[in-house]
Amino acid sequence: MHTKIGLAMLLGVIGGWLLQEVTAAEYLVQTITKAGHEVTLEVLDPNSQRAVWLAPFVMAANIFMSLLKMLIVPLVLSSVVTGVAGIAGGKEFGRLGAKTMGYYMLTSFLAIVTGLLVINLTQPGVGANLNLPMPDNFAPGEGMSFVDILLRMVPQNIFSALSDNGSMLQIIVFALMLGYFIGKTPEPHGSRIKSLFESFFEVMMSLASGILKLIPYGVFALVVKVVGETGFATFKPLLYYMAIVAFALLFHACVILPMLLKFVGGISPIGWFRAMSPALMTAFSTSSSSITLPVTIKSAEHRGGVSNKHSSFVLPLGATVNMDGTALYECVGVIFLSQYYASTGDFDLTLAKQVFIVITALLASIGAAGIPSAGLIMMTAILAALGLPIEGAMLLLAIDRPLDMLRTLVNVWSDSCGAALIAKSEGDAILDCHE
Ligand code: ASP
Repeated sequence: MHTKIGLAMLLGVIGGWLLQEVTAAEYLVQTITKAGHEVTLEVLDPNSQRAVWLAPFVMAANIFMSLLKMLIVPLVLSSVVTGVAGIAGGKEFGRLGAKTMGYYMLTSFLAIVTGLLVINLTQPGVGANLNLPMPDNFAPGEGMSFVDILLRMVPQNIFSALSDNGSMLQIIVFALMLGYFIGKTPEPHGSRIKSLFESFFEVMMSLASGILKLIPYGVFALVVKVVGETGFATFKPLLYYMAIVAFALLFHACVILPMLLKFVGGISPIGWFRAMSPALMTAFSTSSSSITLPVTIKSAEHRGGVSNKHSSFVLPLGATVNMDGTALYECVGVIFLSQYYASTGDFDLTLAKQVFIVITALLASIGAAGIPSAGLIMMTAILAALGLPIEGAMLLLAIDRPLDMLRTLVNVWSDSCGAALIAKSEGDAILDCHE
């Protein structure tokens, strides 16, 4: 499977590039509304020759993404409920919960510190040519606080949370509580509902297996679409910044996390990377950890040897809560813009503000949904809390796709490393099985 997906990505890049070469394209400057703000973006003119050629790929890519999205809510609900109900009775629950949360917090924090060091050493924002004047009579928007995130985690109505794609955190909170109390409810009621969720989960995984057979084709269409639609000219002014972000993300993924795998868990990082490669390639192509979740679970269980009991607890939680790449990006992006405003004399980037950015970046990564560009939208809240205009984040939106692909890959990689470490510490035979 992973060879097929790799080939699909390669062919997708070639296909998209060929379309760039042989078809004529016009880009329109369009104003769209994103997260309640107007953003100016260059988009491919739908009447241009390239858009017409791309149309079937766009359609196939959209159908593929919808099929995977369709799985998210039932899969997360059934896997978390089953996972928690299975361990709710004993000491295991507290131990597994503490290990999981400890790992998530630690790696997200390490990622932010990596970002902080890299951006402070390279200073790409100082004097950058961003053309973002501080607006006259500027009044900062609403910021984000710890209380906001806590309030947003608790659903008022579980059915509206289930029907809203952005409410993954609420669904998880509900599923954790439901699973826990299923385990606590006396016989026969608790075990009846538990079996129901277990069977539902198994059926959802069979459905997922059917859909996952389409991954190579879906990935091909998606990559042709992304490469074909993108006007590379947009990236030029921000190439240096993008290279720094990529470096920091890759450093975290290729040095810090492998060190944890090797020295804490005694797990071969290369072996684990190979086992998880289908999930990593899917994360890279779809830019969404939630959409990738079924592939992450399957790869961790069937290729990596994580037992279902552990994967169904650690991975759905991780896809929503643990986003190392996003945490790193929040920090790097906000400091980049702060450096710019500091160099134009409109802002004072003090040490206290950097500490504030570290804490809010962690919160923002927990609060961000596992969907494309969610991290960038969360960035607007940090900028507002710092008293900076959010236009900067909107500028970064124009170049977000490749960075989003990379940070999603890092997010899923960190979730999977957590699953491996925790499962191994609980006695699973990691990497000791074959496909
Ligand atoms: N796309 C990322 C994810 O799904 C979130 C982000 O935008 O940083 O993991």
